[in-house]
Amino acid sequence: MRYIDEFQDSGLSRRLLDDITRSLTRSWSLMEVCGGQTHSIIRHGIDQMLPDGIELIHGPGCPVCVTPLNVIDKALEIASRSGVVFCSFGDMLRVPGSHRDLFRVKSEGADIRVVYSPLDALNLARREPHRQVVFFAVGFETTAPAIAMAARQARRLGLRNFSLLVSHVRVPPAIEAVMRSPGCRVQAFLAAGHVCSVMGTAEYPALADAYRVPIVVTGFEPLDILEGIRRTVRQLERGEHRVENAYPRAVPAQGNPAALRTLREVFCTTDRSWRGIGVIPRSGWRLRDAYRDLDAEHRFDVEDLTVEESAECRSGEVLQGRLKPHECRAFGTTCTPRTPLGATMVSSEGACAAYYLYRRVATPDAKETVAHD
Ligand code: SF4
Repeated sequence: MRYIDEFQDSGLSRRLLDDITRSLTRSWSLMEVCGGQTHSIIRHGIDQMLPDGIELIHGPGCPVCVTPLNVIDKALEIASRSGVVFCSFGDMLRVPGSHRDLFRVKSEGADIRVVYSPLDALNLARREPHRQVVFFAVGFETTAPAIAMAARQARRLGLRNFSLLVSHVRVPPAIEAVMRSPGCRVQAFLAAGHVCSVMGTAEYPALADAYRVPIVVTGFEPLDILEGIRRTVRQLERGEHRVENAYPRAVPAQGNPAALRTLREVFCTTDRSWRGIGVIPRSGWRLRDAYRDLDAEHRFDVEDLTVEESAECRSGEVLQGRLKPHECRAFGTTCTPRTPLGATMVSSEGACAAYYLYRRVATPDAKETVAHD
């Protein structure tokens, strides 16, 4: 398949690995930001093929994993209300809230539907005008434009029975939070290529300068990742800290102007809490005041719902690269994809799920189902 098969070529992989090995004079720690990259790395065994001096630290780029517990509980509360159709991407249904998940609430009779696009939820609202249709708007910069588009359409159509439970997050403030976290060992970043295909690369040079870290925009196939690592190591060895684009087939420097226009019309930045990590300034999007009537938190009066995070789950440390998933005491014992204690064990981009599915770590039932988009 074009753009897939040629980026999995084992001969080219070997050459890139040789290049990386030859250029290495000391040890380096790199963070791949996106959970999709983490899964690709673990699935293809890339971390095990790299020379000993390179450590890959898994980053916080899994939107399902970082959605705070109180937002999951808000989703559960809204979905339980009579007359509501609650729509979500499939990944969110198994994410544990304080006491249950959306699957459990669905099994108790709530009308919860898995959709593939916010526009599916919008169409549902048009077909069922007497019911309140709520879309769970979770994701990074990649999913936000389609959700902004749905908000615009709802406004244009004058729909009064459509709303959004918004928990959008942004990558650049998360990179900054990682660099500022105590004991941070990250020396360079593989930035998430799909995020940059929407947002462009304009936000990254300031971060590279401020924290003196190379940032290389990287794709998701094995050769993409190896090329990202190769360029990152080359910069580190030369003492450079620039932004490079190793994913030009998908990422123009200016991003996607139409998507950016729509995003800016509907959303503005806000401080956002990340599950297990805490509040990161300006790391999220919220609906602008002009779109507040579409805000499900406001419509269903759940804005003030607060809950405590589980002390047992250490996903906050996993998401900041301070702990490998299998180093968590609960990994594969009390926490499995069937009995998750944290979202990182059930998300298709979660690092704990990746280790559980692909690692040679002794766990019972090592091939249990992990939710996928
Ligand atoms: S293994 Fe489970 S409990 Fe441990 S950090 Fe991952 S999700 Fe949380």
